[in-house]
Amino acid sequence: GAARGQGAAEAALFVAEGARVLLTDVLEAEGTAHAEALGADARFAHHDVADEAAWDRVVATALDAFGSLDVLVNNAGIFRGTPIVDTTVDELDLLYRVNQRGVFLGIRAAARVMAGRGGSIVNISSGAGLTGAPNMIGYVASKFAVTGMTRAAALELAPHAIRVNSIHPGAIDTPMVAANPQDMVAAVIAATPLGRIGRPEEVAEVALFLASDASSYLTGAAIPVDGGSLA
Ligand code: NAD
Repeated sequence: GAARGQGAAEAALFVAEGARVLLTDVLEAEGTAHAEALGADARFAHHDVADEAAWDRVVATALDAFGSLDVLVNNAGIFRGTPIVDTTVDELDLLYRVNQRGVFLGIRAAARVMAGRGGSIVNISSGAGLTGAPNMIGYVASKFAVTGMTRAAALELAPHAIRVNSIHPGAIDTPMVAANPQDMVAAVIAATPLGRIGRPEEVAEVALFLASDASSYLTGAAIPVDGGSLA
């Protein structure tokens, strides 16, 4: 999910800090352009996170290009804002497919490669994946799943020195939020103690901390980056 929004900001910050980054996304043109702009330490590969076989391909691409896999950010996600009574099984399945199965496949792929040498997995859940929210039952369910899988993986992978933490953004200024009615976004901002929408770069800073050895004693944590909304 690195072609735009928070994932694009995370890839840019990681490269700026000296990492070599394989950006993946279903948005081929945007992802390729962003990786090219980041220079020789960034590559792009087309990747649907819900596609099991595609994970083998992108992990192989990362290992070929860079020699090791030390960090995975499971950022790709989709949002649907629908009342319960109008939510179809197809919409529910789509949210599970991308937001839940995608994160599971990422954790499994990374665990297979990182076992024996350690690493850090950063899962992007949501504030909605800690508290719930109205008119988004499928999204909430899929993000609670990310929160739960983070804890399950943190406990199971700790003996392998693989740390697994989740970030829970509030309203962040990305295309995902821009697609919603402006009055809904304004209401969320009005209810945010810091009184403004977050920037993708502010989430990227927390992802960088969780990816790096600066957070070496942190695993299984669920960190809100939400202007105080959960406070
Ligand atoms: P965004 O829509 O700008 O970015 C999401 C990226 O994921 C896009 O580049 C998209 O193409 C990619 N993606 C979608 N489906 C994919 C798939 N099947 N395979 C690979 N890539 C896919 O939104 P964003 O705000 O940057 O979202 C990033 C993450 O943050 C998501 O998991 C989202 O649920 C979460 N989040 C966002 C907010 C917010 O307010 N923006 C709040 C809480 C949580």
